[in-house]
Amino acid sequence: MNHDLVIIGAGPGGYIAAIRAAQLGLNVACIEKERMLGGTCLRVGCIPSKALLESSELYREAEHTFKDRGINVGDLELDLEKMLSQKDRTVKTMGGGIDSLFKKNKITRYSGHATITAPGKVVVDDGNEQTELDAKNILIATGSEPSTLPGIELDGDKVGTSTEALAYDEVPKHLVVIGGGVIGLELGAVWNRLGAKVTVLEYLDRILPTTDTEIAKEAQKIFEKQGLEFQLGCRVTGVKVNKKTCDVEIADSKSIRCDRVLVAVGRRPNTENLGLENVGIEVDQRGFIPVNAHFETSAKGVYAIGDVIGGAMLAHKAEDEGVAFAEYLVTGYGHINYDTIPSVAYTNPEIAAVGKTEEQLKEAGIEYRKGSFPFLANGRARAMGQTEGRVKMLADAKTDRVLGVHILGPRAGDLIAECAVAMEFGASSEDIARCCHAHPTLAEAIKEAALAVDKRTLNF
Ligand code: FAD
Repeated sequence: MNHDLVIIGAGPGGYIAAIRAAQLGLNVACIEKERMLGGTCLRVGCIPSKALLESSELYREAEHTFKDRGINVGDLELDLEKMLSQKDRTVKTMGGGIDSLFKKNKITRYSGHATITAPGKVVVDDGNEQTELDAKNILIATGSEPSTLPGIELDGDKVGTSTEALAYDEVPKHLVVIGGGVIGLELGAVWNRLGAKVTVLEYLDRILPTTDTEIAKEAQKIFEKQGLEFQLGCRVTGVKVNKKTCDVEIADSKSIRCDRVLVAVGRRPNTENLGLENVGIEVDQRGFIPVNAHFETSAKGVYAIGDVIGGAMLAHKAEDEGVAFAEYLVTGYGHINYDTIPSVAYTNPEIAAVGKTEEQLKEAGIEYRKGSFPFLANGRARAMGQTEGRVKMLADAKTDRVLGVHILGPRAGDLIAECAVAMEFGASSEDIARCCHAHPTLAEAIKEAALAVDKRTLNF
């Protein structure tokens, strides 16, 4: 089989690269070892976690806030099986959608494990037979998988990763989450809303290590009010599994007994059994595949994108790299701006950011002005009854160019898009302040934060 481009992995990086390359006229094949297309993001990541976040949030609202709004729903009951099957249906439907996109764009799909055997050669092993593909170009988009800590053996049941936490068949009585990053907090919050006691253990002295410190601190207080417990600065040394419980062992502290452990300490790149050695590619110290600005590896004709090359391990970063890669390959020009890639934690309230944090600006010695506007003073947030959090904008002290925006609040993940677009176009805070924002919307808080940079908020 001869192809212009053979892509290994059909996650958001791989499948989007396949579509864009096919749109640009290449004969594209994509190899995926799992039955469903869509990668970690669709199978066990972004989509199923958001389905559960939405459902558990609705449950919490029905439990706590409906009554205040005059909505009486009688006795509330959780049907976990149905909640999980709604999540599974969402995933399945979207997986089918990618199948259709492959057909529409005439992308050849191969099922099985791919190995690069020599320059321009990839072998697909589907468990029964092996097929050799000839490829003018090879794109590695094999993504990542959850990591663990020394002393912790994942048993895929009581001690598991995000994958298991998306499908617990009953609400844990006490869930211990190891790792206070985005994935741990999102899934911890899901089970907390559904009734579990949740304790988050974090090695650092703060949660959300890459988030602006002021915002992360404010978020932690809100999560604590919601019932999440945090133990910061604690080093987990092991997990002992008993018949019905687990003991999470912590250095210099008492161990914690619980019935489930979620290990959410980061993800490691998928490069095993990929045949990198057959084309002379060496991974870096953390296991990522090094690439240049055009996603070229050290082997001619072999490229890599997405989680497997490191940087922000996010679906939209992988997608944008997929598009940029295909355009570089075919036209010689592509575009990705790593300074304007938004990041979102889909907690409640959500936390979203684009650009630099205050700490990064201080460290780089860049002088900035700061504008902050609380959702408490936003009409729509009041009407929604979701007034926690703020928008914080950081702009260059001399040029007023927006350098970073950090949002803690309702629908922060949607609101940050405006800020990413503004920054991509090199906007100043004055530009944003002078753009008309519809009333009453949450987006007005962004305009007010921009006005706050110049100390002239109108509603606070
Ligand atoms: P992946 O999605 O990991 O896809 C790689 C694919 O390659 C996989 O399907 C794998 O089976 C296949 N593969 C690997 N090796 C081979 C081989 N040798 N042969 C054939 N196939 C192979 N990101 C966000 O932006 N927003 C979110 O809300 C979000 N939530 C998340 C929640 C959870 C619980 C998790 C775990 C992750 C979340 N992420 C989120 C991260 C996101 O899922 C990843 O950043 C994204 O999936 C990376 O895309 P990718 O294409 O690089 O790799």
